[in-house]
Order: sequence, then structure tokens, then C-alpha cells
Amino acid sequence: MIEEKFDAIVVGAGPAGNACALTMASRGMKVLQLERGEYPGSKNVQGAILYADALEKLIPDFREDAPLERHVIEQRIWMMDDRSVSGMQYRSDDFNEEKPNRYTIIRAQFDKWFSKRVQAAGALVICETTVTELVQEPDGRVIGVRTDRTGGFVRADVVVLAEGVTGLIGERAGLRSKPNAKHMALAVKEMHFLPRETIDARFNLKGEEGVVIEAAGTITKGMTGTAFVYTNKESLSIGIGCLISDFAETHETPYGLLETFRNHPSVAPLVEGSEVKEYAAHMIPEGGYNAIPQLFGDGWVVVGDAGQFVNAVHREGSNLAMTTGRIAAEAIFQVKSRREKPTAEALSLYKKMLDATFVMKDLKKYRNLPRALDNKHLFTTYPQLLSQAMQTWFRVDGIDKKSKENEIVKSFFRKRKLTGLASDIWSMARGWR
Ligand SMILES: Cc1cc2nc3c(=O)[nH]c(=O)nc-3n(C[C@H](O)[C@H](O)[C@H](O)COP(=O)(O)OP(=O)(O)OC[C@H]3O[C@@H](n4cnc5c(N)ncnc54)[C@H](O)[C@@H]3O)c2cc1C
Repeated sequence: MIEEKFDAIVVGAGPAGNACALTMASRGMKVLQLERGEYPGSKNVQGAILYADALEKLIPDFREDAPLERHVIEQRIWMMDDRSVSGMQYRSDDFNEEKPNRYTIIRAQFDKWFSKRVQAAGALVICETTVTELVQEPDGRVIGVRTDRTGGFVRADVVVLAEGVTGLIGERAGLRSKPNAKHMALAVKEMHFLPRETIDARFNLKGEEGVVIEAAGTITKGMTGTAFVYTNKESLSIGIGCLISDFAETHETPYGLLETFRNHPSVAPLVEGSEVKEYAAHMIPEGGYNAIPQLFGDGWVVVGDAGQFVNAVHREGSNLAMTTGRIAAEAIFQVKSRREKPTAEALSLYKKMLDATFVMKDLKKYRNLPRALDNKHLFTTYPQLLSQAMQTWFRVDGIDKKSKENEIVKSFFRKRKLTGLASDIWSMARGWR
């Protein structure tokens, strides 16, 4: 057992844990951070887009030495059927600003860099150490953690659960229930290495500019999910993910979906000739607001993916992780500064502070969306209809435009009856409200 008692122990060194440990350590608190990986980032998977705003609030000068890949100047949103892509594209030179808003990153490098900043702020970071359980008093109060090291009991006033999506430590302690398969996506990702000039030419880029493609449609074979292509300096990250409940029902495999996506006529030319060096799989909590578990109790708080803080619609997770980590740290620091005991009542300050941020406001806004997206027509019928409509419209074949308009409208009603169409529109409208 480490005899020393800490003000706080942070379980996990992903963006949530790092943000929390950094904030507490920079305020002079005695912080221990435990990470099961060989080094921070070694176990972590992300697309990955970094949202500058959340990191800037923690490390304002991060651009000076953070391992950033490209800043994003163009966003493409694709609706795909098996042979085509319909979409929206937004590219602006405004994104070539002095302090860009979004970057692509490689998590293994980024988390390592982030952790160095945490250590420089004064936190003690120990890797290759798995927290096996929370140590609780008979009344449930958390007083520390047990690890897989010999005699590994460490005491602290507060334990921050930043353990990521599985939330096993919280679950084992009975602080939360097992995640629902309808609230969890399983995503797989490959890194395709290509010369920098090839990526620049294929995506029409120069310097540090980057492109992000988010895609949905028949590529997920009727399952609720999305795919992506992100440009790094000398590689492309491509991936796809769907709800675990859908995989269980359809018996489709994640690698089968990724292969289909990679071979799609609009994706294959982007990755042609690349060398695939990495393959990874990871879960994403996509249950939204209604799936958020209890976030605080006597001597503990939950941050990041462990608290289901992911905005699946906007593909935001790491920024919610950093923000919840930072806010939890500020709340813990306030409780400590007032010399209050970190009881559930005192730590409820974390939830109060979080409610005022974009994190809770955004998740609340989309609270009905998981149900609205649980509709296979969105991933089969509608992408096909959209593609047909586009083709009817753009093909010049001697048919007059009025007849084309009628054909497009009729094709929708042929595939989907009025009641079905109305109910899909109503449910989507409620989800986006
Ligand atoms: C394929 C994919 C693409 C994504 N793309 C994006 C994106 O582009 N942009 C974005 O913002 N978000 C994205 N996300 C989501 C984002 O990765 C997460 O929201 C974010 O990583 C959550 O951070 P976290 O610190 O809560 O958890 P994690 O990053 O998972 O970190 C948890 C850490 O805890 C450690 N740990 C777990 N259990 C223990 C234990 N018992 N003891 C010690 N250590 C432990 C783990 O090893 C890990 O280092 C993506 C996710 C996936 C899977």
C-alpha cells in the first residue's frame, strides 16, 4: 500500500482524466493518476478530431508543441448508397485562421503529450497500473482504490472515474448499471499510410490543411451507424461504427462493414495504394442524455465516456471528456477550498456546474435522437431514394423537368407509404428539436 493519502485519485489518462488531473494539480492539489496502459494513449482509439476550444481552456498555448496533424478547412457530409454519394460540402479559407478551430490528431501521440503537461503541473502519474476496485466504507463512502499491484490500496479524499466507456470500476462498485447495448456503438478504424503529396492532391490541400468526411447510408446495411475518413499528415484514418444491439441482431461484422466502406467507389480511390499499418476497435457511448448515469456520490465523481458524455450527432466526445474533467476538478477544488467533506451533497456542485455548460445543453437537445435514429429506413430506403432522385434530376435524357419532379415524388410514395413517411419525419423532427 502507498502510505501517502492523496487529495484525489484519477482513474485513467484519456482526455477526461488528463483534463481533471491537470486542473486539480495546477491548483496545488495532491493528485495521483493511474493508467492501465503502458503509456497514456497506448490503449486509446479515436478518429480523431480534436476540438481546440476545450483544450485551449486547459492549455492556452497548446499549439506551440502539441502533436497536431492537420487543421480542418473542409467538412463533407455524405449520404451513401452502394454506388453513389449525395452530400454537402463546406470549405472555407476562414478556417486557415491563426488559431484553427479543429485539428486531426493521432491519439497515442496526443495523450502522451497531454500527460507530460499533467506531470509538469505536479500530478503523480503511474502507468501499467490497473485499478481493480474502489475501496468503500460500509456506508458506501469511497476512500480510495485498489490496484493490481501488490498491496495496491491507495487512499484519497475523492476518486475521479475517468476510466472510459466500459465504466467497469463504477459498475463493480454498484454505482452504475451495466451499459445497454442499444446505447453503445462498436467502431473499427484503420490507418492508411500514403505520401503527404498524394493526400494533398487527392483532397486538394496545401500546407497543414485537412479534410473531414462523415458518412451514413446503406454502408451500415440498415444498422444505426456512421463512417468517416479523416486526413492526417501522412495517413488517412478511416472507420465505421454501429450500435452493438444492431450487430447482435444482424450478425454483420464490424470488419465486414469496414471492408465494404473501404471498397465503395467513392472511397477506394482515396485510399488506393496505401499501406495499412494499424487496425483498432473501440466502443462509443451513444445513448445521449437519457443514458447518463449518476455522476457523483460520497467521495467519487464520473467524467468523460464513463459518464456517457458523447454527442453522437456532432461526432464530439474528446471535448466533452475534457470539459467534464475540467468542471469536475473545479468543483472538487471548490469543495476542498471550503474545507467541506467531499460528500455527495458537496460534490453535487459538479453536476450543477455542468448543467450550465454546452455539454448538458447539447445532450439534452438531442435526448430523443437515439430513438429517432432507431429506424432502418434511414440507412436503407432513404439513401437509395435520394440517390435515385439525384440521378433522375441530373441525367439529361429528353424527359421534361415536370415529369422528372413527378417521378421523384412518386418514387418516395412507392417505397414508403404516406403514414410511414409522416411518422419518420415527425420522429426525426422530435429528435432534432
Ligand atoms: C473510432 C472512434 C472515433 C472517435 N472519433 C472522435 C473524434 O473524432 N472526435 C472526438 O472528439 N471524439 C471521438 N471519439 C470519442 C472519443 O474518443 C472519446 O469520447 C474520448 O476518448 C473519451 O475520453 P475519456 O478520457 O473519457 O476515455 P478514454 O479516452 O477511453 O480514456 C480512458 C482511459 O482510462 C484507462 N483505464 C480504463 N480502465 C482503467 C482502470 N481500471 N485502471 C486504470 N486505467 C484505466 C484507459 O486505458 C484509458 O487510457 C471517437 C471514438 C472512437 C471509438
